[in-house]
Order: sequence, then structure tokens, then C-alpha cells
Amino acid sequence: MRTLIFASNNKHKLEEISNLLEGIVEIKSLKEIGLEGDIPETADTLEGNAAQKAEWVYSRTGLDCFADDTGLEVEALNGEPGVYSARYAGENCSFADNVNKLLNALQGHTNRNARFRTAICLIENGEKKYFEGIVNGTITTLEAGSEGFGYDPIFLPEGHDKTFAEMPLDIKNKISHRGRATQKLVDYLKTK
Ligand code: IMP
Repeated sequence: MRTLIFASNNKHKLEEISNLLEGIVEIKSLKEIGLEGDIPETADTLEGNAAQKAEWVYSRTGLDCFADDTGLEVEALNGEPGVYSARYAGENCSFADNVNKLLNALQGHTNRNARFRTAICLIENGEKKYFEGIVNGTITTLEAGSEGFGYDPIFLPEGHDKTFAEMPLDIKNKISHRGRATQKLVDYLKTK
């Protein structure tokens, strides 16, 4: 089985992505290959950040690798927090800080439509390929559930009556932005 390096230090994402790619490719984390350091994420688009992260690994290892970048795009906030979703409430903020800031920002808004969007950049033999995944939904007024991470407790995916944080990981993976982008990556890798 071929090996791909996943350019992330986020253990939640590593678990989600390893589940999706099980039996297709072997995923190695940065920790497993002994690559340390802060991966830069300074682009102003999701695609730019995904490429920057993958390039960081490729330039140090020369190995096939991929990275993802996700943003929560809220309609009433003109697509914010978008590419700045991780640091929405400021540098070193917690997931809870971000959730609270978003709930406050949406107070009084009736339009609570939002979508998660993931961009994946794969570097294969030095060449880049991009894959996108989107899930539409709404932002709830109250938090619900304790699974997952980030904005999961306040994101209600379209056609479901439970937030991402109330769903088991395998169900979230089937419908999520990252799940959909990863599925496109999987479909591509299967053609090889
Ligand atoms: P990243 O750049 O892919 O790490 O994602 C940026 C931020 O978006 C994260 O720090 C989380 O706050 C949020 N995020 C990404 N994926 C998810 C998810 O699946 N559920 C909830 N929040 C997420």
C-alpha cells in the first residue's frame, strides 16, 4: 500500500482522515515521520493555505503528501470567519471562544445559513492537485453535543436534526466538508 504524509498536527483531523482512507493508502502523521515545527498558514484562501502546508512538508521530505484547510462561511457575516476560522476570536483562542464569538455575532440575525468548505492540496511527484468539499447547514442558537471539535456544537447540517457534535464520527465523516473533499481524494487515488 502506498504511503501519504498528512501535513497536520490536529489529532481529530488525523483520526477522521485515517478512517476515510483505511485500506486505500497508509497515512503517516508528521509526528510519525519525526517532522516538527509550526506549519505556516498565512495565505488568504483555503486553497492557498492547503498548498502552503503541503509544500512545507514536501520541501522538507520530498515525499507525496497532502494538507487540508477548512473554513466556516456564514452568509449573514459575508462569509466570515472563512479562512480565519481557527483564530476568529484572536490568537491562541479556544474552540469555545470562537463558538461564543460567532453566537454573539449572529444575535438578532434570522439568516443563520452557513457552510463548511474544505480544500485539500495533494502533492504527488511534485505536482499539485486540489479537491473541494462543502456541507451546507445552519448555525444553531445554543450549543449541543460533545463529539468532534471546533464549531461542531453549533453547526446543524442540512437535512439533519442533530449538530455535528451530537453525531458519531462515522456519520459526520459521511456528510462533512472534509469527508466529501477526502472522498474526492480517495476516488482520485483509486484511479491510480
Ligand atoms: P483548519 O484550518 O482545517 O484546521 O480549520 C480551521 C478551523 O475551522 C478549525 O480550527 C476549527 O475551528 C474549524 N473547523 C475545521 N473543521 C471543522 C469541523 O469539522 N468541525 C468544526 N469546526 C471545524
